[in-house]
Amino acid sequence: MRIGHGYDVHRLTEGRKLILGGVEIPWEKGLLGHSDADVLTHALMDAMLGAAALGDIGHLFPDTDPRYSGADSVELLRQVTALLREKGYTVSNVDCTVIAQRPKLAPYIPRMREILAGAMGVELSRVSVKATTEEGLGFSGEGLGIAAHAVALIDEA
Ligand code: MG
Repeated sequence: MRIGHGYDVHRLTEGRKLILGGVEIPWEKGLLGHSDADVLTHALMDAMLGAAALGDIGHLFPDTDPRYSGADSVELLRQVTALLREKGYTVSNVDCTVIAQRPKLAPYIPRMREILAGAMGVELSRVSVKATTEEGLGFSGEGLGIAAHAVALIDEA
């Protein structure tokens, strides 16, 4: 077994969709980024790549590459899963935490888990998504951005 950690932050801005774990969440602001800026899926991919010591998504899907402009991060997660499989790894379980002051994410978490589990080709019970606030402190607390942490355990075939 091998373990990896991922962390990501994106800035909240007007005129963008808010997409977390592949779920579009109705909100007055969205996350800024070259891709769809799905901070949760980005942290998860970095955890998986970290577990396999295969670098990170910035290396794999550079934001200077026009192919990834507006990219669907869940599709990139499918590609990361395929890469790991190719290297002989399977995902054992993942645990993710989204840090956002607003909106309330609890209603959307079941769907996020389904989408992420589907993209990784694992059972729902292997995918945990949690949300927390930072009690109004710092950039997340001030609503300037959203952060996500993830850990992934992978098995060597
Ligand atoms: Mg990112």
